[in-house]
Amino acid sequence: MNSDTENDAYQRLIGIGLALSAEKEINSLLERILKEAKSLAGADAGSLYLKKNDETLCFAIVLNDTLDIFQGGVNGDPVSLPDVPLLTEDGGQNMANIASRATILGATLVVDDAYNSDDFDFSGTRRFDAITGYHSTSFLTVPLKTLSGEVMGVLQLLNAKNEDGETVAFSDQVKPLIEALSSLASVAMENRYLLDQQETLKTRLENEVDNRTVELKNALEKLSEAHVVLKDLTTIDAVTGIRNRHYFDEVFDQEWRRALRQQYDISLLLLDIDYFKKVNDTHGHLAGDECLAAVAQGIDKMLKRPSDVVARYGGEEFVVVLPYVSSENAGHLAVQVCEGLAGRVFNADGKNINITVSIGVSSVVPSDKARPRDLISQADEALYRAKTTGRNRVCVYGRE
Ligand code: GH3
Ligand code: MG
Ligand code: MG
Repeated sequence: MNSDTENDAYQRLIGIGLALSAEKEINSLLERILKEAKSLAGADAGSLYLKKNDETLCFAIVLNDTLDIFQGGVNGDPVSLPDVPLLTEDGGQNMANIASRATILGATLVVDDAYNSDDFDFSGTRRFDAITGYHSTSFLTVPLKTLSGEVMGVLQLLNAKNEDGETVAFSDQVKPLIEALSSLASVAMENRYLLDQQETLKTRLENEVDNRTVELKNALEKLSEAHVVLKDLTTIDAVTGIRNRHYFDEVFDQEWRRALRQQYDISLLLLDIDYFKKVNDTHGHLAGDECLAAVAQGIDKMLKRPSDVVARYGGEEFVVVLPYVSSENAGHLAVQVCEGLAGRVFNADGKNINITVSIGVSSVVPSDKARPRDLISQADEALYRAKTTGRNRVCVYGRE
């Protein structure tokens, strides 16, 4: 090689180096490396082996002028080339195979005529030729090394051709060029592996984050469902199964404010079971409890609109919030409840019990001056009147 062609070759190497680092995918990178090496060395064929582990080299790619990317064997059928062991059967180093020997030594090997060489037992070459239908003669085998000097595989070029197309040995000038190309190729491969690794890690991390997000969302949903159930539980009275005083306080306040904003009637019924102490005294506390629950359920069933709220106010007293219900209609409803309960026989702890209730009714269209508790006091006042005027009756506040 004169200095001009040498210069051309190095210029070409720089171009190849840049092209190799631009390859985005490892297989196309390997193919590119081999194509460039084959063309730079004027070789007829080439193959690239990668180290699978400390014991095995495997074929990554084989190129040949007539077969292009090697896909088939003698008949063009798909063929998988056997791995090359780096160790012999007795555990020693496999120096008989050129690729294996270059890997172990980490050095370039040049073989001018494999079948007539005294240096090696070329069983590997014979096997390769038998499978591929190729006739390997001259070899240039260069290790591919990482930056830290570790051999990751070898680049092997076969059958250099002279200008007349005859198979010749690889020239001394070609060796340093291919060694330089191998260094560039190794860097590009190492970079690609690192980038791929980074990409895999990134994807794994993204998947992990996605999974965690789904898990978190599920957990939050469960928590919020549990919260709803729990909230519901804390608003239910244990003895009667209807809403408790706490729930009434909350809802009454909200309903009051809504009625105030929209200026409609809101009514309250305050119910107290008549002579309930006597029920306990006569039938026992257990029957009293059951009776209390039956009465509560009875009242709850009689008030059917979704906006009606029935709650235990305390002891044997119940309260009903009736949004959108006028004083007159609340009075009618109260009478229905009063008569409905009086007409029933409650069975509790195996005993038949008759009960009556007294009901106080109050109604208002809320104003800024009025307070929710005024409506309760008025219902209480009406209830007191119902009690003092004979019980088992309804009294409406403000109406004699
Ligand atoms: P009135 O007609 O004046 O309302 O008479 P009353 O006996 O119902 O009224 P009083 O206030 O004297 O007594 C209420 C009774 O209600 C006292 C208590 O034994 C009973 N009571 C309150 N809460 C419960 C309860 O949770 N279970 C049972 N079994 N009884 C209850
Ligand atoms: Mg009472
Ligand atoms: Mg009572």
